[in-house]
Amino acid sequence: MKGMADLLRSGATMLSRSCPECGTPLFQLKSGDIVCAKCQRRVVIVPEGEEATAEAGVRLESLETVIIEKLVKLGQTMSRESDPEALKSLSELMDSLLGNLERLRASRTA
Ligand SMILES: [Zn+2]
Repeated sequence: MKGMADLLRSGATMLSRSCPECGTPLFQLKSGDIVCAKCQRRVVIVPEGEEATAEAGVRLESLETVIIEKLVKLGQTMSRESDPEALKSLSELMDSLLGNLERLRASRTA
């Protein structure tokens, strides 16, 4: 671990974020690691990780909406269908969609 001037010379860039411990501006090394020159340690920026998690949650929710919409449409199709073979394949499709929905919900609460 080096001092601030050495960090800049080595190609590290100063970030707009500051160290949660001492308030000194943080540096990002060429390797991608974020360090505090004063504390002489690596810093993990937590808020970015939290944002990424929240974003993934939103995507899973929209996927869930898509599956539910398909299930509703499938239900409407089934109610009009009288051919046993067609009903069988429709119900298999519904079964697999319900399985997807279940797994999706389980992964969200996990
Ligand atoms: Zn620090």
